[in-house]
Order: sequence, then structure tokens, then C-alpha cells
Amino acid sequence: MLVSVDNVIADAIDGASADLRRLSLAIHDNPELVLKEEEACRVLVDYLESSGFKVERNVAGLSTAFISTYVSSAGAHGLNIGFCSEYDALPGIGHGCGHNLIAISGVAMFLATSRVMHKCRIPGTVKLFGTPAEEAIGGKITMLDHGVFDDRDLLMMLHPTPVYTGAWHSQCCLSMKIEYFGKASHAAMAPWDGINAGTAANIAMLTMGALREQLKPDWRTHGIITNGGQAANVIPEYSCIEYTIRTARASELHVLRERTMRVFEAAALATGCTHKVTEEYAYLDNMDNPVLGQLYEEIMESEYHLPPEQDIGGSTDFGNLSQKFISLHGLFSLTGSRVPNHTVEFAKDARSVEAHKWTLFAAKTGARIVARCLMDEEFWKQVKRAHDERQRGSGDRH
Ligand SMILES: [Zn+2]
Ligand SMILES: [Zn+2]
Repeated sequence: MLVSVDNVIADAIDGASADLRRLSLAIHDNPELVLKEEEACRVLVDYLESSGFKVERNVAGLSTAFISTYVSSAGAHGLNIGFCSEYDALPGIGHGCGHNLIAISGVAMFLATSRVMHKCRIPGTVKLFGTPAEEAIGGKITMLDHGVFDDRDLLMMLHPTPVYTGAWHSQCCLSMKIEYFGKASHAAMAPWDGINAGTAANIAMLTMGALREQLKPDWRTHGIITNGGQAANVIPEYSCIEYTIRTARASELHVLRERTMRVFEAAALATGCTHKVTEEYAYLDNMDNPVLGQLYEEIMESEYHLPPEQDIGGSTDFGNLSQKFISLHGLFSLTGSRVPNHTVEFAKDARSVEAHKWTLFAAKTGARIVARCLMDEEFWKQVKRAHDERQRGSGDRH
């Protein structure tokens, strides 16, 4: 039975390969930033509608979010499966995180699972969630807060990185905007009358750098100055920096947050500025499911012929979903190179024919795992048990 299901999945995904490649390139070649992914959303929605699926747009008040739904021809009274597609890009480097591939992997798993339900007469529903704004803000969190995932039994998504794993424990993160308010003055005529907000930003950056010596190896802090003043001959009255801090566990994030706040305050005190910290968004760590993850790694290893690697930094808004729902956030690698995400080189790799091949392979793997959940009651019980155990255990981690 499983062999024929594998064939149904392979046929569904390979049969759509040319369309998926077209969608992937359309998204890649027109990189759109957080919440501006209009064209990406449009090409995906057009494709799904032209393939006969119902699509709801403007989900959770997000104009670039959508939900496509398939109700099994065998009835809706089965498992409710959900896949996530991302499609936002990064400023300056386009699809350096390969979200064009995430977009089509979600579509591929959605098509394959719908086909499996129909062909094998399995009741249930499948939804493809078009989830914008992963690189900042966290579109999935807005959608989660609006309850759009509430009836799902299983959520899954895939992400390209330099490695593959089904057991990624992503970092929690908190992104902040820090503004300093000083007083403008002529930089040569009366600098002593000014209060230099640019200096406050510099002190904050330098002190955050010095703080690193006391941070744990898996903690991260990184920031940029987005406004350091307007003219060299004017003492800046305003400056702005943005910082993200990350830790392995939510409980540690509170500790790092406190220390970070003291640094930002110290820079204000040192310069006589006032300051304001705006906490913009926070992602929780990804809670992996060992049963789903192990099957993912077993199938992936048969093709990669390399062991999986879990130790990779980064954060995702899918982490917030994973804390609530049974889920798998599978990582897959593109070309065998070790180029990290968020680089121009990774953006180039994400456009390659090789990357397309690995994306379809990962999507087939994801669809095979879902099929197993749908058809093997004992396996599904193990998955649920593993999720319950992880949730109970997460009490000490959060
Ligand atoms: Zn990214
Ligand atoms: Zn990403």
C-alpha cells in the first residue's frame, strides 16, 4: 500500500514540476519584502485557483496572506492537515533565505496530500496557508492570534539551509527598535549646547559588543544603526538602532533581555539623551516532534547519503505554531555547499535547477510523512504521544 502511495505522491509532484519551477522563478526574480509580497501571493493564488482549489485571500487582516482548502472526496471527517508557504525576501539580497522554494514546497505537499486523500479514499481536509512576513513581524503569529490554524491536527513546512534535519530547535528571538532623543546644535559653533543622540547609538552598539564576552555560546545579539543623524556638521538630535537578541530557550531570553535593556539605558545616561525601546516582535523556539523528525531524517538520508545536522542557528515564527500544534519544520539542503542563508550566494543557489530538485524531494518526503499519519493509526498515536511529552517537558524550558 505504502509503495503505491509513494507513487501517487511522486506523480502529483513530478507532474506539477514545470508549474512549480515557473512559480519559484517568478517569486525569486521579483523579491518582495515583508508584507509587500503582492506578486508572489498573486501568482500562487492564481495557480491554485486555476488548479481548481478554493482560495481565501486577505486572511487575518494581512493582504498578502491566503488559505487554499481541499476537502477530501471521501468526506471531511478525518485528520485536518496544514502546510505553510513563505514568500518574503530580504532587503538588498533578495531571496537569500530561499523562500521561493518554501513557497513551492508548500504547494507541492498540498497537491500531493490532496491527491492521496482522493485516490486512496481517505477522509480529511488539507489547507495551504500562505504566510507572509517571516523575516520580520511574523505573519504566522498574526494568523495564529486570529485562530486560522485552530482546527488543524498537523502543521508542516520545509526550509532550505546548508544542512538537513527533522529536529531543528530554532532559537527564540526578540526584535527591538531603540530610539535616542537628544538636542541639535551647530557641530563647530556650539557643540557643547547639543546632546548627541548619535553618540548614544554608538555607545549602545559598542557596549552590546562588549557584553558578548559574558553571553552563552548559543545566544546571539546583532543590530544595525538605521538613523545616526542627518549631517556631519549638526549634532544629531535623534538616532535609531534596531537589535535582535536570541537564545535557545524562552526563559533565557528574559535574562538576556534584562541585560540588553541596561545597555540601552546606559547609553542614554552617558550622553544625557532620553530613550525609548519598542519591542517589535518575538518568535518562540521550534518544538520538534521526534517521531515525525526521525522519519523525515530516515527518508532524507537515503538520498543525501550524509548524516543530518541539528546544530544550526536561526529563528522562525513557525516556532510559535510548534508550541501549540503537532508539527514538523523540516530543513533541507540545496546543493551540498555550506553557504549559509541570508547571503547573495544562497540567493543564487535558491534559483538553481539543483535546488528545485532537492525542494521537490523534500516535499515528497513531507507528503510521505503526512500519508503515514493519515494511514497508520499506530504511527499517528506515537506522533501525538511524542507531542504531549514535549509539551509537558517544555514547562521547564519556558
Ligand atoms: Zn531568513
Ligand atoms: Zn527563511
